[in-house]
Amino acid sequence: MATGEALRRGLGDEVQRWAAMKRVGVTLRYMTEFGSRCKQKNLLISAQFLHKQLPIRLARRVIELERLPFGLSQKHPVLKVRDWYLESFRDLRSFKEIKTVEDEVAFMQQIKAIKRRHNNVVPTLALGVQQLKKELDPKFFSSDLEEINQFLDRFYLSRIGIRMLIGQHVALHDSDPEPGCIGLINTKLSPVQVARVASEDARSICMREYGSAPEVNIYGDPGFTFPYVASHLHLMIFELVKNSLRAVQERCMDSDKDAPPIRIIVADGLEDVTIKISDEGGGIPRSGLTKMFTYLYSTAKNPLDEDYLVADPEGAVNMAGYGYGLPISRLYARYFGGDLQIISMEGYGTDAYLHLSRLGDSEEPLP
Ligand code: ATP
Ligand code: MG
Repeated sequence: MATGEALRRGLGDEVQRWAAMKRVGVTLRYMTEFGSRCKQKNLLISAQFLHKQLPIRLARRVIELERLPFGLSQKHPVLKVRDWYLESFRDLRSFKEIKTVEDEVAFMQQIKAIKRRHNNVVPTLALGVQQLKKELDPKFFSSDLEEINQFLDRFYLSRIGIRMLIGQHVALHDSDPEPGCIGLINTKLSPVQVARVASEDARSICMREYGSAPEVNIYGDPGFTFPYVASHLHLMIFELVKNSLRAVQERCMDSDKDAPPIRIIVADGLEDVTIKISDEGGGIPRSGLTKMFTYLYSTAKNPLDEDYLVADPEGAVNMAGYGYGLPISRLYARYFGGDLQIISMEGYGTDAYLHLSRLGDSEEPLP
């Protein structure tokens, strides 16, 4: 950690100064229109924008990471995350002004490396919070969880934005994009198609874990498309279907009745595309509903374990049972102006409503 502290001191007031600067957000529509025009010139403009905006966003997170309650800031995994943010801040700040095509290419490589550096932020931070949770009195923890929860919401939402901006810039370099794709944005994304793939992915995990998986039936027009980021939509549907599969599976395991299928309905409204995922997995008691969107609330057995992170040579951590599926999915929905709601009938089942803004003109939230 000594190097991290030296780095922190070396950057001194610069982090403070940058954290106070004006943040500028973008919209899905803006990114789509911008990416579809006059390539080289726009890449340069985009790089200059990121060169200025990314350090601001990173600096704000450094400061927040240093001000967490209950000594969370001093936990080893949290310091590690802070140091990644500091290193990336330093790399961006020491990058010279971007004027030429060559500068832009070098910058693109730089931000690509930064994105990679931050790959494991979510499980690492989760580990820090988990360590704190183990130490604290459970009663105390539940009442003060809210502050940490709000911090994590801001932190992960900001992370989605940073990764979207970097990912989009890097993807615009692709000389042979998929038809209809502008960077990461698929202008003709079929939600029914994504739902099919995400459901199959979730079912195969269910198969692996339980030896069988309930059916997933999808209703909606497969030909209907709208502009969205495929990986975001996949992640949200995958998480929701995974939850439904688990609930149905656990409920039906000991009975000889067939597992009731999960139903996905895709509705294309004028303002929103809404995807409803319904299961007959017994629902959630009302007392649990408020906790569902908090990090670390999970009824799954596999608790986050330190050996877990160490054991994985790739650092690719399995997220099952962390209790992150719902809160993270809701952040992805909100990032582009959508939302996620869960309605439950205890004793019967759960409906998840995923609303996605169809117009794409909602500005990025900037925590
Ligand atoms: P992770 O998604 O991180 O692997 P998780 O599934 O436990 O872990 P969430 O997806 O956030 O975390 O869900 C939190 C909890 O909410 C679950 O543990 C489960 O108790 C409850 N839950 C979520 N979806 C459903 C559902 N469709 N039916 C019944 N309970 C649900
Ligand atoms: Mg889940």
